Amino acid sequence: MEELNQIRNIYCVGRNYRAHAAELGNEVPSEPMLFGKPTHAICAMDGGEIILPADKGEIHHEAELVIRMARPYSPELSLDQLIDGIALGIDFTLRDLQSKLKSKGQPWLAAKGFLRSAPISAFHPFPGEDALANAEFSLLVDDRLAQHGHVSDMIFPVRQLIEYTSKHFGLGTGDILFTGTPEGVGPMAQGDELQLLWGSELWGKLRVNLG
Ligand code: ZN
Repeated sequence: MEELNQIRNIYCVGRNYRAHAAELGNEVPSEPMLFGKPTHAICAMDGGEIILPADKGEIHHEAELVIRMARPYSPELSLDQLIDGIALGIDFTLRDLQSKLKSKGQPWLAAKGFLRSAPISAFHPFPGEDALANAEFSLLVDDRLAQHGHVSDMIFPVRQLIEYTSKHFGLGTGDILFTGTPEGVGPMAQGDELQLLWGSELWGKLRVNLG
């Protein structure tokens, strides 16, 4: 998809929902915890299939709201002016490898930035700040409800994530931000079909083969 080729920097936020931090035994951070992925991690969640590594331990799904920047951050701009599209995506995580890297104090890139670790649905117009705050999204794995998130449960809301990212790393047109995952993360199995829903609307669909 053309719009996915135009994505520039990919930022992700760790532990932005209390119940998810708790399910992995992590403390709730006092400021946003950011990491990045290479653009090669991106793939379309358009009903096709992808192959993920079968030989690196468990791969967890993390369903997340993704926002796309319309222009560089400036404090007087509203969210409607700053964000030109929202999508749903999966922040795939090699969980066993991540635990190993964390215990050694090593960077997360191998666990979070591998090829096809960031499937994304098509982008939709920004629905407005109020609609966003009241939105819910879900992940179905083989038609079973695996994750369900309320945007209002974010520890650091979208505006704060944008301000923080911009201040410390820079945030410009075409950059995207994965805003963190709610609870319910879990391992992928061979042939699992993932469906991401915005409310009850199907936004993204993908089958995963491990190979
Ligand atoms: Zn994540």
